[in-house]
Amino acid sequence: MSGKRFVLMLALVASLSSGALFAAGGRDSITPTDLREWLTYLASDELEGRAVYTEGLGLAAGYVQTHLQSWGLSPRGDSGGFLQTVRVRSVKTTSRSSVTVQVGKESRTFKEGDGITFPRFIGAKRSFTTTRVEFAGYGVDAPGARYSDLAGKDYKGAAVIFLGTSGPKAIDAGLARGLLGGRGRYLTNQMGAAAAIGPAQVTAQPAAEPNGRPVRPDFVTTQRIDQTVSPSVTANDAFFQFLFSRASFRYDDLKRRADAGESLPGFRLDGVTITWNLDADYQVIRTQLTQNIVAVLEGTDPELKDTYVAVGAHYDHVGYADTELGEDQKRPSAPGRVTVGRESDRIWNGADDDGSGTVAVMALARAFAQGPRPRRSVLFVWHAGEERGLLGSRYFADFPTVPITKIVAQLNIDMIGRNRDDKASEANTLYLVGSDRISTELHDINREANRGLDQPLTLDYEMNDPADPEQVYFRSDHYSYAAKGIPVIFFTTGMHQDYHANTDEVSKIEFPKLARVTQLVYETAWRLGNLDHAPARDFKGPRAGRGTRD
Ligand SMILES: [Zn+2]
Repeated sequence: MSGKRFVLMLALVASLSSGALFAAGGRDSITPTDLREWLTYLASDELEGRAVYTEGLGLAAGYVQTHLQSWGLSPRGDSGGFLQTVRVRSVKTTSRSSVTVQVGKESRTFKEGDGITFPRFIGAKRSFTTTRVEFAGYGVDAPGARYSDLAGKDYKGAAVIFLGTSGPKAIDAGLARGLLGGRGRYLTNQMGAAAAIGPAQVTAQPAAEPNGRPVRPDFVTTQRIDQTVSPSVTANDAFFQFLFSRASFRYDDLKRRADAGESLPGFRLDGVTITWNLDADYQVIRTQLTQNIVAVLEGTDPELKDTYVAVGAHYDHVGYADTELGEDQKRPSAPGRVTVGRESDRIWNGADDDGSGTVAVMALARAFAQGPRPRRSVLFVWHAGEERGLLGSRYFADFPTVPITKIVAQLNIDMIGRNRDDKASEANTLYLVGSDRISTELHDINREANRGLDQPLTLDYEMNDPADPEQVYFRSDHYSYAAKGIPVIFFTTGMHQDYHANTDEVSKIEFPKLARVTQLVYETAWRLGNLDHAPARDFKGPRAGRGTRD
């Protein structure tokens, strides 16, 4: 056989099966041995728990970067390097926002603080009118409890009202707490409502700032301040009384029913329009810096290589206790939970959270760099500051180093090295979140990729259930991409006893499982990388949920 034909055949085989012929890279290069070696360093006490703004996180960044260089990945951070500086801004808000409600021929204006409260971050100044105003009862969906205010409703472009501070009787109080706080966000971000109005919550007033002390920020953000935000506001009784003054149900009646957890109707408020005047000034009072690590492996197709399959994990964790152990075996402060019997351990190593994802993305970067290349490019981002509110991923999504519209999917890995609740019966289980929400096609590609593994995992969608009390869809870095309309999959093996505890250590990691989950992510990314079209975005929302398994 001539060399030329041999090369041709190699290429052919490589395009059919990923990796088999490439000892250095490809799927089979993802092994428990390497993952253990890298994680043993990244989750060592030397890295002091990798909190954002600490030496430990910097050491981790250096370690990942050195490996990327040696594997031949291309840097895609700032000015030709692997690091992207993330600007974390603390902001003070001066708000003059107001709403004008028109009911029939009567109109009233409610100013910020006088009947209505706006969030501290309301985005760019703008004015708009919502001509459709809908009452959505409690504004929650809990299919598990057979309760739904929202199913089948189309609230796109509407202002949506909901009531009740403790939820309907039909839903268990613990579950309700998780759902109630996210109602406004769900309506605006997931259902496309132009605005959401809920009942005022009783909150303690912050203590006055002592003289000479730094001003307390109203919010901390890495996002663009000039973006368009769909307002989610709270209002008092006077506001609602006027709003419902011509409705077929009286507000006092609805409120009484809501307070008692009784059933509430859903209806449109005819003849009501609301004009929103969003007007806030933002003063940045502090800017802190941290860093994302960003690398690219260029695809082989002259056209598709300008599009990206994004893979990510967060490389920060919560750090260490900076106070000494008292005689009572307690510290005045700790960054997370303390495991009984391990009080003297002051380092939160974050081996699973998210050391496991950090080394998984390293293994993926090497597998793609040294194995067969897909037609699309693959973007690898190790996000900083996830533990402080998705800082790095929110920054990357607003200030991307590749065109954000060219990312066809984002695969986020956070905690994949354990069994949920430490149960042995979970040994083969992987939880997927978000895969069906934006692109059904992405969901199917992932399932197919799993079936193609030598030993497929049990894919469980319980944590994707819209009524899941943990609401993890909003709680890791994939959400920053999903909020831009990018199809995402969040891979996790679930919570366990050591979650955010000082005993989340390397000794507890199931390395063979970690390698298998990483291989699944590889297979999915490989398929996405070779797909001739971007996975279709049909935005059908969460369907796979509790009880759905593959
Ligand atoms: Zn995490």
